[in-house]
Amino acid sequence: MPEAPSATARPRILIVEDEAALISMLRYNLEKQGFRVDEAADGQEALSRIAEAPPDLVLLDWMLPTMSGIEVCRQLRRRPATAGLPVIMLTARAEDADAVRALDIGADDYVTKPFAIAALLARIRALLRRAGTRPAKGTLRFHDITLDIAARRASRAGRFLHLGPTEFRLLEFLMQHPGRVFAREELLDAVWGQDIHVEPRTVDVHILRLRRGLNGEGEADVIRTVRAAGYALDLEPSA
Ligand code: CA
Repeated sequence: MPEAPSATARPRILIVEDEAALISMLRYNLEKQGFRVDEAADGQEALSRIAEAPPDLVLLDWMLPTMSGIEVCRQLRRRPATAGLPVIMLTARAEDADAVRALDIGADDYVTKPFAIAALLARIRALLRRAGTRPAKGTLRFHDITLDIAARRASRAGRFLHLGPTEFRLLEFLMQHPGRVFAREELLDAVWGQDIHVEPRTVDVHILRLRRGLNGEGEADVIRTVRAAGYALDLEPSA
């Protein structure tokens, strides 16, 4: 039996997709798993639904009429209210470069069509866990960076940082262990969890996004790349 979310906390998932058959299939399977389901048939509708009632996660098709999924994702990331909204992109493109582009644009994960529903459900659960509300643990500080865990807000030198849930979780983990070098596999275990297969280079993509989100103009890069070893939250001696 698959683990169903408890009745008291049924996460809401917004499906943004223009293929009716795929929407019905997704709705049926998600509801069977105990999720609440909303749908939007195009990008504009998605943005207004999200503004009205923010879901816990968005399944976002890449190919949509009028506004592409990529553009929807970009707009979500630009707004503080939705910068941290978990997004999984559905893409018909098997090309590696496109998958990386989806992550690069701010999606947290992607699934290539046609996909097995069980695989998609595993990705949804893993992402919800990553973004999940954990008990408030106060505030973390490193250099001029502040992380408010309960509010899930990060700032640097007083400026709000636009971080997706994966970047937030990465930063949170690194800030809990400043100065320590972590291998990609260790970061995968800590941030993504051990029960999901993710390519180690996915870590590089998210580190790049975290750096972009963290480092403003003229600010020191606080993430140190340790060749052949991994990454650490650190200030270079030269910085
Ligand atoms: Ca489509």
